[in-house]
Amino acid sequence: MEPAPRRNLDLDTAVADVETRYAEANPKSAAHHAESCQALPGGNTRTILFYDPFPLTLTGGEGAVVRDLDGHEYVDYLGEYTAALYGHSNPVIQEAVERALRDGVVLGGPNRYEARLAELMCDRFPALERVRFCNSGTEANMMLFSLARAVTGRDAIMVFRGAYHGGLLHFGHPDMPMNAPYRTITGEFNDVEGTRDLIAAHAGELAAVVVEPVMGTAGCIPGTSEFLQTLRDETSRHGIILIFDEVMTSRLAPGGMQERLGIRPDVASFGKYLGGGVTFGAFGGRADLMDRLDPRRPDALLHSGTYNNNVLTMAAGAAGLEHVLTAEAIQRLNASGDALRTRLTVAAEAAGAPVTVTGLGSMVCLHLQREPITRPADKTADRPQARKLLHLDMLLRGFYVSRLGMISLSLPMTEAYHDAFVGAFETFLSDYGALLED
Ligand code: PLP
Repeated sequence: MEPAPRRNLDLDTAVADVETRYAEANPKSAAHHAESCQALPGGNTRTILFYDPFPLTLTGGEGAVVRDLDGHEYVDYLGEYTAALYGHSNPVIQEAVERALRDGVVLGGPNRYEARLAELMCDRFPALERVRFCNSGTEANMMLFSLARAVTGRDAIMVFRGAYHGGLLHFGHPDMPMNAPYRTITGEFNDVEGTRDLIAAHAGELAAVVVEPVMGTAGCIPGTSEFLQTLRDETSRHGIILIFDEVMTSRLAPGGMQERLGIRPDVASFGKYLGGGVTFGAFGGRADLMDRLDPRRPDALLHSGTYNNNVLTMAAGAAGLEHVLTAEAIQRLNASGDALRTRLTVAAEAAGAPVTVTGLGSMVCLHLQREPITRPADKTADRPQARKLLHLDMLLRGFYVSRLGMISLSLPMTEAYHDAFVGAFETFLSDYGALLED
């Protein structure tokens, strides 16, 4: 599946050429996608997994490798948008899931695993005095928004422009018709003065401020310590609940970004890998806030969800935290991500290509522009055709990456994979770098 690039094309011709080679290499995925369109809108049940001309149909994975229907293998640099931190076949997690499956599922009562997972999370993340489980990061954030509104008696939530907090909480566009109808006040990420003023101006209306310490889907953009500390100081000053959305970023240190920054939010949301690769969401924080959900209280607030404590997730999540994700393992993974980011930046500089590599630790994002990125609005020169070229070209070279340019590393990855990945990126830049300036 090695590409046969042709030089001296314009960008559109190069994209058409790579698209043809992609379609020729993947006839079974193309047919499967066409068939899927009969029952699924666009053949798709998760918008972010669609890309044109058609997405690859995956059939399995092992370690850090995924396979597709046409029999190709890819080193998985997407890592299921951070959820596949353990890779695709960790034996400890497989054994935990198999055991839970053997013992019987859909039990409908507290089980042996959930308190253990809760305990492991509370030990690990500094802000967690209590935690509750749900089924997704979206749900976790919505529970926190609603809890903050119920507890404070205020109705608005401050969000940052371009932030993604879930399928119904997408603040990338001024008018997202599918969003849950929370009243929001929008700030600019990493804008210290502006945010301080905005919080002061709306203090009486704000139930919560929600922030991802490193914006993930928006392009792996780290928040500055000054900005995040300002959020902590100003929310404390005005009695507003500070929510850290750590659905992705909890992987960036043993105790998440809250530990790494030494900033303790009131509450935080979690998701992705913490369920061991099975459906997962969690939210938690200060005991006085979370205990409003204690069903023994006469004024208890309701939090329900049939599969909140499903045994497969609880067993997989607990096994992962207890036996696999040691502090050393997580530090090694993030150090390896930092080194990869540096190598990709050096490769782009050497090629003189318009590339900016953002991220922190094991979350990395390739942007095809020279201009630095400190907030989503800075992504002005990043064009869809250039991104498509990079994406399809890297797939043809055997690296599973996202159209967004986002990369997230997994534990089974080796330095040899990174050498090969950097080599493929260098070849992409040498073949096509000049066209990215078009
Ligand atoms: N918050 C952040 C920061 C996310 O990146 C995501 C998903 O990508 C979510 C929340 C939503 O999580 P889920 O897809 O589990 O609903």
